[in-house]
Amino acid sequence: MTEAVFQKERHIKYFLRCLKTFLPSLYTSNDSNRVLLAYFTVAGLDLLGELYNKTTSEERQGYVEWIYHCQVPSGGFRGFTGTDFGSERRTPENEAWDPANIPSTFFALVILLILGDDLSRVKRTECLQWLSKMQRENGSFGEVLGTEGKIEGGGDLRFCCFGAGTRYILRGKCGDGLEGIMDIDVDKLVAFIEACQAYDGGIGEGPFCESHSGHTYCAIGALTFLDRLSKNHKPIALLSPKTGPFESLVRWLVTRQTCELGDDEEESDEEDGHGVDEIGPLSATVEEPSLDTKVDQLPVVPPETEDSLRWAGFNGRCNKYADTCYSFWNTASLNMMNRLTLVDATRNRRYLLEKTQHIVGGFGKGVGEPPDLLHSYFGLVSLAFQGEPGLESVDPALCASQRAVRHLHSLPWWQETKR
Ligand SMILES: [Zn+2]
Repeated sequence: MTEAVFQKERHIKYFLRCLKTFLPSLYTSNDSNRVLLAYFTVAGLDLLGELYNKTTSEERQGYVEWIYHCQVPSGGFRGFTGTDFGSERRTPENEAWDPANIPSTFFALVILLILGDDLSRVKRTECLQWLSKMQRENGSFGEVLGTEGKIEGGGDLRFCCFGAGTRYILRGKCGDGLEGIMDIDVDKLVAFIEACQAYDGGIGEGPFCESHSGHTYCAIGALTFLDRLSKNHKPIALLSPKTGPFESLVRWLVTRQTCELGDDEEESDEEDGHGVDEIGPLSATVEEPSLDTKVDQLPVVPPETEDSLRWAGFNGRCNKYADTCYSFWNTASLNMMNRLTLVDATRNRRYLLEKTQHIVGGFGKGVGEPPDLLHSYFGLVSLAFQGEPGLESVDPALCASQRAVRHLHSLPWWQETKR
């Protein structure tokens, strides 16, 4: 068999189509998440190394202006301009109807960094003040501030990650220029994240929830952001090798790699010969079938062959099929834990390039599915982690190119130390 080919030119075309023409109608319901769609598009072209070649400086300045148009006067960013009723009509009584939200704020800041903006127009202190008001008593974050400052929505690890990421971008190493600005409660946030680790080592959306790779990524991302800014703090167990929480999480993440791709469902239904039709009507008997009968009724699971093991993507929960985005959520978490070498990169690459890479460019969610922005970007990032030629290297926490992260770290207030 020939080796899988990364279709770089087609991916460039795909992201350019998303940037410069209309998105398919299926995205209509995502209108209020435009900042997120913009992030995938701009970050995708950046990873492909073409953002600055395929757009003019006027176009990029236009994107920057649009992002600033999404900034809310009281700090933070909205997800689109549709709720903006103009700063002259905005009052303390009605501003809850046009709120900033935590995910859009994080993505807006990352887009600005990718586009080379110096964040000088970001309402830095207002945004950080707003952020600290969004933290709940249990350490987690809401999504928006409602009327009378009530924390609304959110509460799961996604908001913890974007909250910690926003703080990472805007506080900088030493919080220069932020004297007197209330910080979030880091210890409470860490404690909340630790409480979300489940019995099997994975991390769920909240305490006592089922382990899920997306939330696991958010937990490790949040902890990584906090860890990068903290000096002389006590070590975080989930980031410390040889601790129980760390090792059990690594084990859970690595076992998410699977050759169950969900592409042979019809075939196996025909083959196993134990379809629903063969089981008698429920009313016919209430007798418990014998153990032998039950064993006979178990589905036939063919042994793995060299061919069936050729492709191995990742799932996000036990007993699920592989999905392109989980090639990202799992490998990004392992990357932040410095354990990326434990996965089978060759088979993940084959899965992405031979099973979900689409003929028109981009990646679909699963085998044979049309491409979408989220899966296209995360497919690229997973390949970038594995050093795919033609892709820029990526910071797994900020989920943007190392170039964009270096730009953040070069901003004067980000590194400065005051002694
Ligand atoms: Zn997915």
